[in-house]
Amino acid sequence: MRREEIVMICTCDLAGQMRGKGFPVSDLEERLTRGIGWTPTNSMITAHGPIAPSPWGPFGDLVLKPDPESRIRVDFGEDHAAEHFVIGDICHIDGTPWEVCPRGFLKRVLEAIEKRHGLKVKSAFEHEFVFEGVEERPNASYALDSFRRQDIFAESFLGALKEAGITLDTFMPEYGPKQYEVTVGPATGVRSADQAVAIREIARAVATRLGTRVSFTPILRPDAVGNGVHVHFSLQDAATGMPVNYNAQAPHGLSARAGAFIAGILQKLPAITAVTAASSVSYLRLTPNRWSAAYNNLGFRDREAGVRICPVFATAEEQIARQYHFEYRAADATGSPYLVLGAILAAGLYGLDQDLPAPPVCQGAPQNMAQEDLDRLAIVRLPQSLGEALDAFEAEEELTDLFGPELKSAYLAHKRFEEKLMSALSPAEQCEKYRLAY
Ligand code: GLU
Ligand code: MG
Repeated sequence: MRREEIVMICTCDLAGQMRGKGFPVSDLEERLTRGIGWTPTNSMITAHGPIAPSPWGPFGDLVLKPDPESRIRVDFGEDHAAEHFVIGDICHIDGTPWEVCPRGFLKRVLEAIEKRHGLKVKSAFEHEFVFEGVEERPNASYALDSFRRQDIFAESFLGALKEAGITLDTFMPEYGPKQYEVTVGPATGVRSADQAVAIREIARAVATRLGTRVSFTPILRPDAVGNGVHVHFSLQDAATGMPVNYNAQAPHGLSARAGAFIAGILQKLPAITAVTAASSVSYLRLTPNRWSAAYNNLGFRDREAGVRICPVFATAEEQIARQYHFEYRAADATGSPYLVLGAILAAGLYGLDQDLPAPPVCQGAPQNMAQEDLDRLAIVRLPQSLGEALDAFEAEEELTDLFGPELKSAYLAHKRFEEKLMSALSPAEQCEKYRLAY
């Protein structure tokens, strides 16, 4: 049998799904400049299949323009197709960015941060997921036995990540049922979101070749612990590359610039959860005592804070400044990494623009604190359903310019429709839908 390799150009869309078109690998050179045709209404395809009411209907033509630097190719030997895709930007026919493209949105925010404040963003996505190739057993959390039972998945995953140019930091059996976690090294700008997409797709690709699957669903069952996506980030001076997050003299080491950035994120957190926790079942995860994030609080080494100041394993000042960074915990893999990172950074940029004062660290668990203390720290419970989060996102107006009104209204229409689809189902049935879709 004669075989010809096919490569796909994809976008990680409003539903966080990789969709695109394939063509013979021999056409790659030409396609890298020309791109491939795309349709506006594709953006309204929900993760579950049905299409949300589209402002474009059957009209319009766009072009998906690949970014060669995002190309991923992993060889799976003679018996399997290679995994080969390139991530693209959705553009108008004339090549200008399409306002609704998630990757274009992240690029806009990154550019604004650099232009207005001379800063670049370094970030890394930490993923928890379910590996379905193992049976559920009691006493499996962090266990060597859980690691062993996934057999060659982890090794093959590491091999594939390496081939794709991604540095694995750690792989571990996590606390939840069949739950594992992967962490990778940081990247600058749009690259860390490209990496996040690649990590998810490569995990799926490896599992498929092994005859099983992984799921990045936010929560396997209503009673389980969730699969978080924790977004680690820090700010660098764009000119020198030096970190600007740490000030030894400031409370908890939080510099004024990073403090303004974090303050913006905390203030906008209830609104941006609609984007960072993008499914109905995301809100089963974002509840207290689940080690996720249920409030817009800043924690110091606290694994239930909305934003956490991460631990530093160093004593020398310069080393501390290099390691010192933050983690946004109210995210999961139902959000496109471009929208998730873009939303977090847009909120941070708002904080910088307003020069907000550095927020105080919350001591203790918000669910156990007196209301007057919560009020003093401006801590609120995050939305408790997708509908509530979408209401907050819609009502929020100070980030609308950065999102762009077209992206904002398309996202709202898409997610309102999805929310309605899900509302006919029980929480357990919704979990099952998302397990299959992600
Ligand atoms: N599984 C938790 C979550 O839903 C995170 C546990 C951890 O801190 O790694 O975010
Ligand atoms: Mg974890």
